[in-house]
Amino acid sequence: MKANIVLLPGDGIGPEVVASARRTLEAIAQLFHHQFVFSEYLIGGCSIDTYGIALTDEALEACRAADAVLLGAVGGPKWDDPTAPVRPEQGLLALRKGLGVFANLRPVKVYPSLISASPLKPEKLQGVDLIVVRELTGGLYFGQPKGRSRTTDGRERAVDTLEYHEDEIERIVRMAFQLAQSRHQKVTSVDKANVLESSRLWRQVANRVAQEFPQVRLEHMLVDTAAMRLVSNPAGFDVIVTENMFGDILTDEAAVLSGSMGVLPSASLGTDGPGLYEPIHGSAPDIAGKGIANPIGTILSAAFLLRYSLKLEEEARQLEVAVEKAIDMGQTTVDLGGTYTTSQVTDAIIHHLLH
Ligand code: NAD
Repeated sequence: MKANIVLLPGDGIGPEVVASARRTLEAIAQLFHHQFVFSEYLIGGCSIDTYGIALTDEALEACRAADAVLLGAVGGPKWDDPTAPVRPEQGLLALRKGLGVFANLRPVKVYPSLISASPLKPEKLQGVDLIVVRELTGGLYFGQPKGRSRTTDGRERAVDTLEYHEDEIERIVRMAFQLAQSRHQKVTSVDKANVLESSRLWRQVANRVAQEFPQVRLEHMLVDTAAMRLVSNPAGFDVIVTENMFGDILTDEAAVLSGSMGVLPSASLGTDGPGLYEPIHGSAPDIAGKGIANPIGTILSAAFLLRYSLKLEEEARQLEVAVEKAIDMGQTTVDLGGTYTTSQVTDAIIHHLLH
């Protein structure tokens, strides 16, 4: 197949890890006789330095016209001033909005050889293979009205509004069920239905969507219980679906299980249009340019790109297997206890892929 892939390396270690992921995609193209056409654009701090804005219209248009977008990371000390009118994260927000992505998928898998790197006891981590589907465009982070005012006694008051519409809930819950169909047939819908009206609507819609998927089991769980279960029995989860803020918190909690930020991928998807794929880590300015960044989170994001945007399941699986082999053989960067450089890890993964 032929596919157009836009690369947005960004700042810090972004260019190093995106270059690695590109090499693995080129190896996949060679192995399976696909034609992947890559184009590269600036995003974040480097775009601010060159164009004065974090994402140009030209870059966004190229992303919109592509089959998929692979991003490194944005930001760094040079652009850290929180009062600056132009900031690197604005590029990410503009991109997510411009692509119409509303679901953020974050898988957490624990590799047997990395179990000792996790803060949890090894027996709790056996068989952990879950994915969190977080709603990205609604809820508290976008609710109106919001803002500050003063009460009659001159004290300050702040307001945020948690709003969800039925169709916003329906599309994300449906995506979670579709995912569960190709996994372990279980969806855990996380809410706070004992307190929040928006959660009661969420639950009602989830129950309705569940009827379309009779073979998938739906359980409802309060967010406080889910936070606890993620550390007491993480292997009990398959697909978790939840609203924006709960998802923000739970995905960071879940990320700790794997033992390293450097190995976790993510995907942001909409109903149609290109998906956006990126590692969950930031631009790691402390190690940028040293050639020691772990490329695995970005390479696994590329595997997600193959699976979800290009529908190349076998190719995605083989890339994941190659990554797993490298991890099992200790062919890893220092953050995972290895001695390999970024490009040596990439070479090892490509070697496993081709042999
Ligand atoms: P970070 O994820 O960049 O780094 C946290 C720690 O993890 C650092 O010690 C770093 O060296 C290490 N680390 C991260 N990725 C690694 C990898 N692939 N291999 C080896 N080690 C890795 O988070 P931070 O330090 O809080 O943020 C640094 C910058 O990144 C900030 O400017 C922040 O705004 C930005 N950031 C961007 C994104 C994004 O682009 N999506 C996400 C988070 C943070």
